Amino acid sequence: MVEKITKKPELLIPAGGMDTLKVAIDYGADAVYMGGQKFGLRAKADNFSIEEMKEAVRYVHAHGKKVYVTVNIFAHNDDIEGVKEYFETIHNEGLDRGDTAIDALLISDFGIFTLAKEILPDIDIHISTQANNTNYMTYNFWYKQGAKRVVAARELSLNELKKIRDNIPEDMEIEAFMHGAMCISYSGRCLLSSYFTGRDANKGACTHPCRWKYAVVEEKRPGEYLPVEEDERGTYIFNSKDLCMIEYIPEMIAAGIDSFKVEGRMKTALYVAAVTRTYRKAIDDYYESEELYRANMDYYKEEIAACTYRQFTTGFYFHKPDENTQIYDNNTYVNNYIYLGCVEEIVSNKDGLNDDRKAGGEVKLVMIHQKNKFSVGEKVSVMSFDGSNIDVIVEGIYDEKMNPMESAPHPKQLLYIKFNDLNGIKPGMIIRVKRF
Ligand code: SF4
Repeated sequence: MVEKITKKPELLIPAGGMDTLKVAIDYGADAVYMGGQKFGLRAKADNFSIEEMKEAVRYVHAHGKKVYVTVNIFAHNDDIEGVKEYFETIHNEGLDRGDTAIDALLISDFGIFTLAKEILPDIDIHISTQANNTNYMTYNFWYKQGAKRVVAARELSLNELKKIRDNIPEDMEIEAFMHGAMCISYSGRCLLSSYFTGRDANKGACTHPCRWKYAVVEEKRPGEYLPVEEDERGTYIFNSKDLCMIEYIPEMIAAGIDSFKVEGRMKTALYVAAVTRTYRKAIDDYYESEELYRANMDYYKEEIAACTYRQFTTGFYFHKPDENTQIYDNNTYVNNYIYLGCVEEIVSNKDGLNDDRKAGGEVKLVMIHQKNKFSVGEKVSVMSFDGSNIDVIVEGIYDEKMNPMESAPHPKQLLYIKFNDLNGIKPGMIIRVKRF
């Protein structure tokens, strides 16, 4: 048993676009973080335009949750004017006040921090993990500068985090990673991508060369690849496992962490739903009773693995990572479920369907935009917001003109699905299928 701290930690989920933002909120996030179209460290995520940001902030606030915006690149001289203009736009568009006020900016760079203080003094500032926040003096420094929260470097143990908590003001918040991909380099400060592809990880354009397959080549024998380790599949010497702390929520809380952060602004809605829902339930269960949390552990472990992941590690939280923290023999994800789509609406077709079998009469159908192929007759699973799963059979698939289809092979196609039962199915729920 570890000491329980009464204040529930925030569950902070990444939102790469409007669809994942809604999924995160629907499945139980307390807060989401997102990038604008400039200066956030995920250039390949959809990211949000100013208008989309307004819509996102309104949506999140209407649900009583918070939204943070990343501006966490390391700025070079040539970026400064652009950052200024960006902050001025945020101000001019009202994103720093009223019902469209962003709750915090996530910043790593001292220069950008200074500009934010000058141009957007009413928005709280959180200091990004990129800024290398490894000790309580750093936290106290940022507190004096007016930051509200500091995101811990991923290289800290839980004991170190506890010591930070004991040596900083009570109202200074600690955010720490709970789940998601790890960088092999120090707190994401990495030149691999820049070096190999010219795309700078520190400006949000990482091409993930740490996941590539490596070998040794002797200078005078070009083209002859000598494996670094004897293995027919090669050697992935930089390929870290993913962080997962679902089994250690009591320890994370006892370390005094205020916000549990999930990594992954590039992830699918299925991933966001599975991870958010599982951590939501685990945290809530623990606050109900530690016995309930322990009793449901198999469920959490099964559900957290029910989306794409790379094998799990506890990172630096209990000891320094060793050879078991990496995956040497492949760079592939473990893929247990396939994402089929999100229930957008449940529509009533009063004219019936355009196939002979079911002509005439009112029928209720689930509207989705297809993400992966599925067929009539398949058993699929709808993820409920409360943590349960609703297994249903696909009895029919119809195109936008209500013509029947045997399968749904076209990505993004608008489809209407007839399930054998709609009980408990609501808009916003994710539909998935187990194929492995
Ligand atoms: S290449 Fe890998 S270690 Fe480097 S920043 Fe990208 S994800 Fe992180």
